[in-house]
Amino acid sequence: MKKTIFIDRDGVINKDPGGWTEHSYVTRWEDFHFLPGAKEALKRLFDNGYDIIIISNQGGVSKEYFSQDALDEITGKMLTEIRAAGARIRKTYYCVHQDSDNCDCRKPKTGMFRQAEKDLGIKSKGTYFIGDGKVDVEAGNSIGLKTVLVLSGKTPAEEVDGWEIRPDHIFRDLFEAVKFILNESKGKK
Ligand SMILES: [Mg+2]
Repeated sequence: MKKTIFIDRDGVINKDPGGWTEHSYVTRWEDFHFLPGAKEALKRLFDNGYDIIIISNQGGVSKEYFSQDALDEITGKMLTEIRAAGARIRKTYYCVHQDSDNCDCRKPKTGMFRQAEKDLGIKSKGTYFIGDGKVDVEAGNSIGLKTVLVLSGKTPAEEVDGWEIRPDHIFRDLFEAVKFILNESKGKK
């Protein structure tokens, strides 16, 4: 059976845009910077038979900081670079709403995971979700995923102690998280 893994985008694959971009969102490709080791980590997952699914909140669209077209363009360029590095992303899911929209998809809600389950005929329960934020841990936890927090984004390690819902694992970055996950899955065979 094909293995699935869910990955957040900002702060995990690319540098978290908080604090240094115009609206603290990646509104243009110039502000999308792959984190060190991220493309290599994706390649390792892909080479090991994982379907990689990106699950990302991009509320800046509904706040009109950038358009859906701009988001699509950024995604296209990201996927091209990932492909050039030898990996593939199975599908990307974005929630473009903001809190006041009261949607079902904005993390910590789980709509994007449920949509992926429906679209791809997969079960997310028991697989991993790697993210850099509290909402990632909460969303993953509430749909039964194993949660991995990476410290390469918006969350400083000491903040986690105050969280009601803690991640199952914490790693420095995507590369370290993937190393662990691949090792663990080898042990199971
Ligand atoms: Mg993030």
